[in-house]
Amino acid sequence: MFRVVFQTISVVSTETSDRPSVASQRAGKTRHIILYAIIILGAVFFMLPGTEYSATTITSPAAETRAEKFRVDPRRAYDYLVKICRIGPRISGTNGMAEQQKVLLEHFGQFDARIRFQSFDVAHPQTGQPVRMNNMIVSWHPDAKQRVVLACHYDTRPYADRNLIHKRATFIGANDGASGVALFMEMAHHMQNLSPTYGVDFVFFDGEELVYQPGDKYFLGSEYFSKDYRDNPPGYQYVYGVLVDMVADRRLNINMEKNSLKYAPELTRDIWQKAKELRVDEFTMSRPGRFEVQDDHLPMNEIARIPTCDIIDFDYPYWHTSKDVPSSCSGGSLAKVGRVLLHWLEDVPAPQPRNQ
Ligand SMILES: [Zn+2]
Repeated sequence: MFRVVFQTISVVSTETSDRPSVASQRAGKTRHIILYAIIILGAVFFMLPGTEYSATTITSPAAETRAEKFRVDPRRAYDYLVKICRIGPRISGTNGMAEQQKVLLEHFGQFDARIRFQSFDVAHPQTGQPVRMNNMIVSWHPDAKQRVVLACHYDTRPYADRNLIHKRATFIGANDGASGVALFMEMAHHMQNLSPTYGVDFVFFDGEELVYQPGDKYFLGSEYFSKDYRDNPPGYQYVYGVLVDMVADRRLNINMEKNSLKYAPELTRDIWQKAKELRVDEFTMSRPGRFEVQDDHLPMNEIARIPTCDIIDFDYPYWHTSKDVPSSCSGGSLAKVGRVLLHWLEDVPAPQPRNQ
């Protein structure tokens, strides 16, 4: 994600009280010990990698049958996220990015999918030297003439520049970068079992955040992809687009985003409705459109004119900091988003006629 335009900040007040008696101090200490024990146990539980941390949800029998069909695996999804992060930073044009592409080629090469790269050069924002960008496109049912595009960015920001200090520290991008990649790697296992309404393309955008300082251009990959789709119409049409970003937050909370509702209201409501049916309560319908995010869905909507929504958790506390690492992420969260998307892909409604 590049930027949240509007966000509320909740402030938690610390409790103060009048001076207590000795007896109540003792009782207070006991309460504190119990409280600390609960907090420590809770923290240990939270630290388990890939653990489902949220309350168990009750699933309707119909949804359960279909959930079984897909068997989205939180542990495997988390392992993919770790595997990508172990490469280190994946900044556009670097060895880390090349290594990631190798891993993804190997991974998606196991499945019955067509893989191609969409390459172009941009001037490096600092040196002016050309940087080779590569959007990666993995196509399922490549012959289908009507398609859905699921996209994420797979480059990482050059620095953890929202750190309070050390603003030039290494940025790993577990949630902001690897989460979308890991989600699609896990979804690949289920694409053969899927009877989708449309052909499906997974698109990995390069150059979403080749940003060294304010004013540097971003959305490079999505902009190139969108202009190419507009200017060189392929032999197929994208009926819908879904962008995912920051979908591995341990405390997953996905609101309906303002630009998604503006450009793709039916699609957005349909996906949230699917989540509701599956009891994936992390897709919240409260206060729709309260947050506006600038992300790769803007070029997809505005240039390519593909109605596209952004599935994004934009209250991740470690955004653009050194703490955006796998232990801040959850395989359970990835699996929930994966289930919603797989079920939705089987039931994508025909789009309403559009006003051009
Ligand atoms: Zn970012």
